[in-house]
Amino acid sequence: MSIAIYPGSFDPVTRGHLDIIKRAAAQFDRLIVCVMVNSEKKGLFSHEERVALLQKVTADIPNVEVDASPMLLAEYAKLKNASCVVKGLRALSDFEKEFQMAMINRKLNPGLETMFLSARQNYTYLSSSITKELAMYHVPLTDFVPDEIAEEVQARMEDQLGR
Ligand code: ADP
Repeated sequence: MSIAIYPGSFDPVTRGHLDIIKRAAAQFDRLIVCVMVNSEKKGLFSHEERVALLQKVTADIPNVEVDASPMLLAEYAKLKNASCVVKGLRALSDFEKEFQMAMINRKLNPGLETMFLSARQNYTYLSSSITKELAMYHVPLTDFVPDEIAEEVQARMEDQLGR
């Protein structure tokens, strides 16, 4: 069985992430979308909430499961018997860091491949941080995050701003 992991912060999941999830799920028997827990970074949503948002938007993709982990990715992949890490590339600027990460992961777990999927053209500008920034200015989020979670993301941003 081919198992891949799509790691990220997903704070929150965007339409760009969901596009990568759908395309990667079509290439593997199982895709584990994993919220990587990085205690230094405090996000808009807690790790549990990010998992719940991801579960909501991937509910109709049967071979996708959602998890969160504080482990090193190379170790987490071993634990899950995954042979591949999936990454999305939006621009050349993503490449340098991702390439370094891929090499480190291969050093730590020589059986682990990294597969890069190029972002769909209309999502190359899209990131979780730009989504949060736009939410601050009340820009409707439906073009940026999946419909099912747009209201929740907007409401959380309003909450945080104390409006
Ligand atoms: P962000 O940069 O939006 O905060 P993450 O850190 O959660 O996203 O990224 C997880 C993975 O998804 C990374 O491989 C990242 O390059 C990829 N990714 C993020 N946004 C997009 C997008 N709009 N299209 C394709 N891939 C993306």
